[in-house]
Amino acid sequence: MTNNLRYFVGNWKMFGDFNSFKIIKRIQQFYVKFRTNGTNNKIILCVPNTLISFYKKKLNSKIILLGAQNCSQYKNYGPFTGSVSASMLKKAGAKFIILGHSENRMEGETPQLIKKKIKSALNENLNIIFCVGETINEKKQGKTFSVLYNQIKNSIEKKFNLNKIIIAYEPVWSIGTGKTPKFGELLRVIWYIKTYFKKQFRTKKYPKVLYGGSVNDKNIKEFSKQTHFSRIQEIDGFLIGGASQSSKKFIDIIRNYYK
Ligand code: PEP
Repeated sequence: MTNNLRYFVGNWKMFGDFNSFKIIKRIQQFYVKFRTNGTNNKIILCVPNTLISFYKKKLNSKIILLGAQNCSQYKNYGPFTGSVSASMLKKAGAKFIILGHSENRMEGETPQLIKKKIKSALNENLNIIFCVGETINEKKQGKTFSVLYNQIKNSIEKKFNLNKIIIAYEPVWSIGTGKTPKFGELLRVIWYIKTYFKKQFRTKKYPKVLYGGSVNDKNIKEFSKQTHFSRIQEIDGFLIGGASQSSKKFIDIIRNYYK
């Protein structure tokens, strides 16, 4: 069992209402006891904007942190109907924000737009979970590394506060499909992202890299094997979509990871 910091991030997507707080409550009840076993982890739930402030008031501790799933590229307030800025999300209680999710890229988000959003969120001192990943066609054409290279290079600048950016490697073909990368392939990608990022932005440390895509309470055991490998190949945590909408599934993922 590793004692290195691990992130378990839930991405609720377009799910949840006020009653869904019971999911978070159960996760919190579990985690209050679990965290006393000496493991080192952070639990973050990225919920719809409509719920952040309501949940924040109900969560009377900092054990579970809340995040948002996207933001406008524009600052503060302005004539942008339907948009929500990073500062508004921060005021609502978000500490983290997912940006560059493939579901939003598919709706037309470009790397340049994502860069503006990252900038805007960093201005508010939010922690970024920046999603990157290749499509199945790109994978078949052997373009995985070049896709990741471009996604990172075109959305991140050296002058950003890079300590606030966590990368989430989410192969598009793996999201919601039940398919996950072969273990060796995944380690190579994690290694690639960490070494490339450190070299490109001349950082002292390797960035934190999460894996996301069809993580569940069964396959999480496979991913936990990575603790036997070197730090550069280490998966620092998980971005969990569908399974985070159920307290049982989310809790079992954490439990089984450390078993
Ligand atoms: C996601 O949408 O970020 C994700 C990882 O989804 P899922 O776990 O459902 O594949």
